[in-house]
Amino acid sequence: MTREPEFDFIIVGAGSAGCVLANRLSAKPDAKVLLLEAGGRERGLYHRTPAAFYKLFKTKADWAFYTEPQAEMGGRELFWPRGKVLGGSSAINAMIYIRGNKRDYDDWNLPGWSYTEVLPYFKKLETHFLGPSEYHGGDGPLNVEQRRYTNPLSQAFVEASVQAGLKRNDDFNGAEQEGVGLLHVTNKDGVRHSAAAAYLKPVLSRPNLSVLTGARVYRVLMEKTRAVGVEYRHQGQMKRARAAKVIVSGGAVLSPQILMLSGIGPAGSLRQHDIPVIQDLPVGEGLWDHLALPVIWHCKTSVSLDRAENLGNLVHFLLGQNGPLVSNVAEAGAFIRALPDAPAPDLQYHFGPAYFADHGFTRPAGNYFTLGPTLVAPQSRGFIGLKSANPEANPRIQPRYLTEQYDIEVLRRGVELAREIASQKAFDAYRGEEAAPGRDRELEPYVRQYAQTLYHPAGSCSMGRVVDAGLKVYGSENLYVIDASVLPKVVRGNTNAPTIMVAERGADLLLSGGEKLQHGPGLGGVSQGG
Ligand SMILES: Cc1cc2nc3c(=O)[nH]c(=O)nc-3n(C[C@H](O)[C@H](O)[C@H](O)COP(=O)(O)OP(=O)(O)OC[C@H]3O[C@@H](n4cnc5c(N)ncnc54)[C@H](O)[C@@H]3O)c2cc1C
Repeated sequence: MTREPEFDFIIVGAGSAGCVLANRLSAKPDAKVLLLEAGGRERGLYHRTPAAFYKLFKTKADWAFYTEPQAEMGGRELFWPRGKVLGGSSAINAMIYIRGNKRDYDDWNLPGWSYTEVLPYFKKLETHFLGPSEYHGGDGPLNVEQRRYTNPLSQAFVEASVQAGLKRNDDFNGAEQEGVGLLHVTNKDGVRHSAAAAYLKPVLSRPNLSVLTGARVYRVLMEKTRAVGVEYRHQGQMKRARAAKVIVSGGAVLSPQILMLSGIGPAGSLRQHDIPVIQDLPVGEGLWDHLALPVIWHCKTSVSLDRAENLGNLVHFLLGQNGPLVSNVAEAGAFIRALPDAPAPDLQYHFGPAYFADHGFTRPAGNYFTLGPTLVAPQSRGFIGLKSANPEANPRIQPRYLTEQYDIEVLRRGVELAREIASQKAFDAYRGEEAAPGRDRELEPYVRQYAQTLYHPAGSCSMGRVVDAGLKVYGSENLYVIDASVLPKVVRGNTNAPTIMVAERGADLLLSGGEKLQHGPGLGGVSQGG
């Protein structure tokens, strides 16, 4: 191995953040970039078809993690899907486009990350159907659409919420977040627009960008506190690549694992696993996630999406990229303050015109609609830890859900408010019996038994604790973490757009670092394997 770095940048993980970085860093023609992804490519109909997102769970595009037993949830081990494919979780997600509340960014209280300072990056990343404005961008890589198909039940949810006293809001990413409205989606012409489709595919032919799929990074190579490259497994062989800068973008579950395997993490835990300690940092600690709860009604008519999987709708989708299969299931939403003293919305509703519980694995006969109250300003925090020093082993995922009573209160109130909304006139033509929790059930045990992740882990390599406001790992040189793990507090809303914003800003910071780019011959081209 030469001492000369082959690359200027090695990016570990081609998820929402990694795809942005690969695009923006390789836009500099003299920068040599290597992107390493453990999964394969987005292939097949399920990736394209919005209504089929949950059918990707437990396929080869999903890491299909489970949490440790949750003490406050009857010892349940919760399923945690995460994308293992180019595009990462953006290639299997529900495509809802939400930035979070302005207050989230201001409350981080970090130089360069206030809402006013991050807004230009949100605008830069999107081509928004509303066109360029104070709040929106008109020519960014990621396409944001008004869904081509919206079920009448979703319109009824919006009307019923207004009847229950909520404000109508046609753009949760505009002047105000509170209120109720239809959700905007990261689709292009009716099909999923993942970070890979938006950022990576258009630049795959750049000669200075090398992309390897089926390449699992085991650790960052450190010379004392300086990152000099990575060690990875590809096509059954261990390989090394050297770079001037290493960027870890493995997501909120695996970025902390990669750092810990490289000797950066809580010293006690690293020693337990015989990993030499390079930096004693609270890596993995302070994990946040959003919990959601299914509140479900029978629907009196067959209008719901439950029976949408049929040949006619498939033909409609294949020929015209339209019809019910364009639905991303969570078609409408609302942001409200469930507890009166909340400084900003603490509850988000995801409305689905179908039965949606247990990640879509349970599909009972009949027609339904689901209001999913979601805890967006949680207080419980957990951690990601090592189970073993084996880089192929899954890490420990311990969100410590519902360890704060506040979180239970918000979800409980979420069920009561859902009932208030569902009882309004706009639902009269549709509303049947309450299917879950059911009127005779106590709410707190229901919360503990049926809450599930809304798939938004964040904060496990938090800014201010593990990385600085420039996203560089404290006490290290040339080592960065850029993905959802750096959010110091999870935002009030879905986390794809915020992660892409972080990566846009991270790329800018890296490119404006002013350091001279240095590289040798590199790998060149695009290859896959594994
Ligand atoms: C089922 C689901 C539904 C969701 N729905 C929405 C939604 O509707 N709207 C929304 O805004 N957000 C949603 N999210 C959340 C959002 O998609 C994520 O917050 C976002 O994609 C996180 O981006 P990331 O770059 O941090 O990580 P990821 O996108 O998960 O990317 C990490 C990448 O790194 C790779 N990797 C990890 N370790 C290694 C290694 N050692 N070597 C090589 N490669 C590695 C992984 O395979 C993966 O491709 C959803 C997420 C899921 C899972």
